[in-house]
Amino acid sequence: MKQTTATYIIVGAGLSGLTTAYALHQQGETDIIILEARDRIGGRILTKDGIDLGATWFQDHHEHISSMLEHLNIEKFHQYSEGKSVLVYNSMAPAHYFENDPSYPAAYRIAGGTAAIIQELAKFHQEKIYTNTSVSHIEEVEDEIVLTTNTGKFKASKVILTIPPKTASLLTFTPELPASLMETMQQTHTWMSNAMKVGLTFKTPFWRAKQLSGTLIGQIGCVTELYDHCGAKEEVFALMGFVNEALRDVAAEERKSRILEHLQKYLGIEVLDYVTYEEKDWSQDVHTNSGNIVKSIYMSPRYGNPIFQEFYSNGKLLFSGAETSPIHGGYMDGAIFSGLNAAKKLIS
Ligand SMILES: Cc1cc2nc3c(=O)[nH]c(=O)nc-3n(C[C@H](O)[C@H](O)[C@H](O)COP(=O)(O)OP(=O)(O)OC[C@H]3O[C@@H](n4cnc5c(N)ncnc54)[C@H](O)[C@@H]3O)c2cc1C
Repeated sequence: MKQTTATYIIVGAGLSGLTTAYALHQQGETDIIILEARDRIGGRILTKDGIDLGATWFQDHHEHISSMLEHLNIEKFHQYSEGKSVLVYNSMAPAHYFENDPSYPAAYRIAGGTAAIIQELAKFHQEKIYTNTSVSHIEEVEDEIVLTTNTGKFKASKVILTIPPKTASLLTFTPELPASLMETMQQTHTWMSNAMKVGLTFKTPFWRAKQLSGTLIGQIGCVTELYDHCGAKEEVFALMGFVNEALRDVAAEERKSRILEHLQKYLGIEVLDYVTYEEKDWSQDVHTNSGNIVKSIYMSPRYGNPIFQEFYSNGKLLFSGAETSPIHGGYMDGAIFSGLNAAKKLIS
């Protein structure tokens, strides 16, 4: 029978929620349930056919993700950037090629795809992660929190809410949360919730054979950024990038043919020999994007409002997640920092 009462209930099986569960488990706290609205775990981390359709890169200064990967024995590797890259700055002009500066460190990727970190963190809780379970109401009842979901009620002594704050502002709370908190939640942009990605796999990395890096940059094209996305052990040959948001409302078939035409122009006819073609528009995903599509935001906004650091519901409700993190907010590093921090606060 399904367990419905636990000491800790974590809402959301994304990077932050799974980090908290892992950290609690490491401290001997094992009475944990994780509720996840989607039919899969990972949240904004999604690897399909070896392609990261959500989060992908991190840098040296993202220390929390680096040490978590080391701890979990997961390898990182540099983004491939050898050869000529293409800058598309004018649709009429011929392509402009440039070489990446080898002294400038390329970003890291995660071997096996970003989802490798999710799978590893979730290992300890497989039986306690309930997918297809969407929380709609959170109520404080004496010394417990009762969560209403589409599959029934759950009860916990402590609840950690890792849903992006803007999406969490659509839940109802009894008693109501402070107005200033609700307002901050509504105004906190969910990082990358407007992004649209495209990924293609191939039998061979034909661009490498032509001394092309696979990098293609340009705001005027159908794909604003494209990168080599081959696997760490070359088990997958792929290209992955961001679709120009101007194509969001174009019919899927038309968008695909325009994207292929664009890539073919700069990388060669071999683009058309793709094995798989995948797109993911995060703005259409209600578990990430809860409101209107905002105009593209290219730099992560200032995240980690101190209001998210407090306990609510008389010490029983805690917020976590990338957007609540004062360190590298919005990024995977922020999700891990907030997840570890939540576990620390719960145990102390
Ligand atoms: C396209 C894209 C590219 C990105 N690229 C990068 C990158 O290169 N580097 C980087 O560092 N970061 C990147 N990010 C950001 C990164 O993905 C996030 O920082 C991180 O994954 C957030 O983890 P989280 O656990 O805080 O939130 P989420 O991953 O959003 O997890 C929240 C979870 O809560 C669940 N949920 C929502 N509503 C409910 C409900 N009512 N009941 C139960 N569960 C619910 C969701 O389904 C989700 O699983 C990218 C994101 C996207 C979308």
